[in-house]
Amino acid sequence: MLNQELVGLGKKRSTIREIFEYGNARAKEVGRGNIFDFSIGNPNVPAPESVRRELLALLESGDPVALHGYTSAQGAEWVRESIAQSLNRRFCTRYTAGSIYMTAGAAAALSICFKTVTSSPADEIIVFAPYFPEYKVFIESGAGARCVEIPARPEDFQIDFGALERSLNEHTRAVVVNSPSNPAGAVYSEETLRRLAELLREKSGLFGHTIYLVSDEPYREIVYDGLPLPCPASFYAPTLMCYSYSKSLSLPGERIGYVAVPDVPEAASLYAGICGAGRVLGYVNAPSLFQHIAAKCAEETADLSIYAENRRILYEGLTKLGYRCVKPGGAFYLFPQTLEPDDRAFCERAKKYDLLLVPGSDFGAPGHMRISYCVQTSQVERALPLFARLAEEYGIR
Ligand code: PLP
Repeated sequence: MLNQELVGLGKKRSTIREIFEYGNARAKEVGRGNIFDFSIGNPNVPAPESVRRELLALLESGDPVALHGYTSAQGAEWVRESIAQSLNRRFCTRYTAGSIYMTAGAAAALSICFKTVTSSPADEIIVFAPYFPEYKVFIESGAGARCVEIPARPEDFQIDFGALERSLNEHTRAVVVNSPSNPAGAVYSEETLRRLAELLREKSGLFGHTIYLVSDEPYREIVYDGLPLPCPASFYAPTLMCYSYSKSLSLPGERIGYVAVPDVPEAASLYAGICGAGRVLGYVNAPSLFQHIAAKCAEETADLSIYAENRRILYEGLTKLGYRCVKPGGAFYLFPQTLEPDDRAFCERAKKYDLLLVPGSDFGAPGHMRISYCVQTSQVERALPLFARLAEEYGIR
């Protein structure tokens, strides 16, 4: 008997993937340039020149084992050491090579962490809606635990501390934060992280076990208007930092990231659990060639300036047209309200103009749409008149 839960998951493509495939089919009919595909978070800027240089140098070095061989399960020691030092320089943390576990992107980092911190179907992990939809898959189908969704404050997508406090209980094993967030672009301030840390410390004491903070940070480098981006791990020690080079270095297909395990009393078991989860999930080791790149280019980024420009044009353009939207502080998504309560119907209607948008329901926040603006600026500019025509259909303007 096959595992029907997995069969179901495999059959049901995510809406984002479905829209992406629809866009590909439609592009064949009307030409790629006439499709306004705002569905997927695939960075459109090239990786930095240093990545290409390092890759060429590595390939020419001719040491096949160092390049393509297995590394230790947690990643090559020199790579982990180099990443730990880079983190410590930037965030005043105290990581060592023994704190870092290299992964195939943030997706693997998250699924490993969720599996490590839960052990029973009654265990709960809290996520703030709107949230990256794969959290639920990793928590429920991957770790076999419960995913508890708490709506963020609708006016700014920040944490609703009252709702969080009411949801924390003896089954809570972890809380997930994602700052800057996908899909709302919410950035948490120092004050928010301090308050969150105090609450988690208090509740951990009350329930007699550590409530971990899982900090999902693939958009760490994409922050606007000089907003400070405090590091969650420096406010709350039991933080599992999950990082990815997919967005900062524009390398999503290469699958490289890491988990940074905190210096807490149970660190040795926690790290062993992370290694065990990686083993159970069959990751073996993170891609070897890109471990080198992660170490060599840890503090580089692709040219991310296009995202700031796209955000400005889109946010200003849409709000002028009458769309209601919280201004994102980071990442490369806008999450406006749809012009009718049924976000799926709205996104379906938008297809008439070849505007491909993702319904907010997919992120746990109906009545919204996600616009992924990691596209050419000219596409954003050409899309605005189409958003205007769409608004006119709803009698706006
Ligand atoms: N977390 C968030 C919030 C994301 O948006 C994504 C990808 O878009 C991921 C995790 C997974 O990223 P990766 O490519 O590193 O697996």
